[in-house]
Amino acid sequence: DRLIAADTREGEGNLDHAIRPKHLHDYIGQPRVREQLDIFISAARGREESLDHTLVFGPPGLGKTTLANIIATEMGVGLKSTSGPVLERAGDLAAMLTNLQPGDVLFIDEIHRLSAVVEEILYPAMEDFQLDIVIGEGPAARSIKLDLPPFTLVGATTRAGLLTSPLRDRFGIVQRLEFYSIEELTEIVARSARLLGVETDTGGAREVARRSRGTPRIANRLLRRVRDFAEVRGAGHVDAEIADQALNMLHVDHHGLDHMDRRLLLAMIEKFDGGPVGVDSLAAAIGEERDTIEDVIEPYLIQQGLMMRTARGRVVTRQAWQHFGLAPDDRAPT
Ligand code: ADP
Repeated sequence: DRLIAADTREGEGNLDHAIRPKHLHDYIGQPRVREQLDIFISAARGREESLDHTLVFGPPGLGKTTLANIIATEMGVGLKSTSGPVLERAGDLAAMLTNLQPGDVLFIDEIHRLSAVVEEILYPAMEDFQLDIVIGEGPAARSIKLDLPPFTLVGATTRAGLLTSPLRDRFGIVQRLEFYSIEELTEIVARSARLLGVETDTGGAREVARRSRGTPRIANRLLRRVRDFAEVRGAGHVDAEIADQALNMLHVDHHGLDHMDRRLLLAMIEKFDGGPVGVDSLAAAIGEERDTIEDVIEPYLIQQGLMMRTARGRVVTRQAWQHFGLAPDDRAPT
């Protein structure tokens, strides 16, 4: 169980509902995304049209689902959500599409995992608001065309590169989410603490922020664990010292790296002499799925300059060796 895994929503439930920003002005950070969406939404509203189809990509936990909800709220329309792997058959998507009200947002998470048959249905739906579907089988099969209400498809994916190009080309708006700065995360933690009634100060919020892997979902999750610690070991107040103690106990290090991150980096250093190593060998060495490494673990490590993706494979940087108190020059002579 990875405490700081950004890709599970377990245990978030109602608490998450309370702290999830509902409007664009509550959405902290991502200034470029916010500014652009603000303009596109205002323009679409002014023309009384639905917003263009929007693709949001970035690592898990950075606020893609939140953004889809905000788009629906700001446009004053409903939201229906589903995800790529859930839409197994063409009929599954047809059912979602025919249930839309005019202007609604249809949110498809993990859109890179749509099957080819489902994607085929999506193209005319996105382009002409037309549903083109074959009913029945064999000689009785017939194709029917239905008009759909105008709608906005919001697709989310961890990696835009995984989308087929005909699908990617059908999005009018493409937004990339970046890891958050410590300042932005401090603001997010302070806001969540306020909404959850957690007593905290700037030092406490900043310590949680510093160790959240640039990810709001992790920041919120760590805040809840630190609050537990503060209530039991302290007077309930989350300051920098309590946060530090709690996070040390949770094995989240000062860089915000957890045991999965450390395992990946250490495997590269100890088993592959720092690399280059192919992602499949790495996956085998640490017993993780290749996708988890590519989508969840390595983006942050790359962003932090601890490892690099090269044509010959992954390599750790000098900074990663130093993180573990090692130096590349300590390498065993070969
Ligand atoms: P994703 O869909 O990218 O995996 P979510 O939209 O579910 O991520 O975001 C995870 C949680 O992080 C949300 O529930 C929300 O509380 C918080 N969050 C995300 N982005 C922001 C933001 N920009 N400002 C404040 N909180 C945010």
